[in-house]
Amino acid sequence: MSDEPAARIAEFIEPLRVAPGTRVDLGRDFDPGYRAGLRKREAEELLRTGVALLAEYQQRLAAQDTYGVLLCLQALDAGGKDGTIRHVMSGVNPQGVRVSSFKVPSDEELAHDYLWRYTRRLPERGEIAIFNRSHYEEVLVVRVHPENLVRQKLPGEARGPDVWERRYREINEWERHLTDSGFKVVKIFLNLSKEEQRTRFLKRIDLPEKNWKFSAADVRERRHWDEYQRAFSAMLSATSTAWAPWYVVPADRKWFARICTAAVLAHTLMDIDPRYPEVSEEARRDLLAARRELEREAPSGAPADPYAARHVRARDGRGAGPEPPDGGGHGGPAEGGKHGRPRRHGKRRGRG
Ligand code: AMP
Ligand code: MG
Repeated sequence: MSDEPAARIAEFIEPLRVAPGTRVDLGRDFDPGYRAGLRKREAEELLRTGVALLAEYQQRLAAQDTYGVLLCLQALDAGGKDGTIRHVMSGVNPQGVRVSSFKVPSDEELAHDYLWRYTRRLPERGEIAIFNRSHYEEVLVVRVHPENLVRQKLPGEARGPDVWERRYREINEWERHLTDSGFKVVKIFLNLSKEEQRTRFLKRIDLPEKNWKFSAADVRERRHWDEYQRAFSAMLSATSTAWAPWYVVPADRKWFARICTAAVLAHTLMDIDPRYPEVSEEARRDLLAARRELEREAPSGAPADPYAARHVRARDGRGAGPEPPDGGGHGGPAEGGKHGRPRRHGKRRGRG
């Protein structure tokens, strides 16, 4: 099987990946308006291809039942997390996906260590879990508003000035443990500009059917924009690892954020390359015995195996049969992208 689509996807997302050990300055290094020279029309086509690809890989992941995937989505309010999940996962079997949204912690959650509530929502083998907000809130909102740390009732020795460095280390180690156990961790930061957030907030106020998405607290949070940008930069610098990388996805164009997210997830699944389990000789013998039994039950006049009969007729050009018994149409990954080499995402011209 050609690896070309996999290579093209890898090339497309490479400029978004934070190389481990890099010191990130979000405002300097990443442009929320970047779109790799793509136009919306092309991107919609690509997204359809990507969604079909994800469906196929998710099916194999579930059948193999060995690996799981955790996709963490972080963004500021109006960053597009909900819409991205809705579009990117639109073709995937809902039985194989669990989406968890993390809000202000409950009393029960605060009574445990800070990773407890995230641990409870991890994927099973064969599943894709999506965290809509994630354990990274513990070094973002908790850092920007330290009163959250007070509510966590930590003992004195766990509350020192090195608390954030400790959390980065603990999170990296936790993710390493998950990876070593067969759970791939991949993290996406939807990078929105301040002006685009203003526009989206106003849209939520202007359109009655969007009012529910807006809260006055969102504008209060926006006043802490610069502190959040610093917290994001520190988080990206400290927690993008070889085993659980961060991707900074430009989010000012929703369609571009969606295609990037689909590509990152597809890349992760292609890396796992899950396979349908092989049927053993013994299991194959059982299958053939079961077939003989079912064939003997054919009512008079009916073909012994209606499915095979239809398929053979279709092959002989005597009628349109269903797909071939091997499940046809899954010949491998679909086209990765029409665009050429993406421009380097990152360094803005004239700066840094
Ligand atoms: P939303 O995603 O708009 O429903 O909002 C969820 C809210 O919960 C956001 O304001 C988050 O900052 C907040 N939140 C999520 N996780 C935590 C946490 N660990 N500590 C405090 N607030 C949190
Ligand atoms: Mg909100």
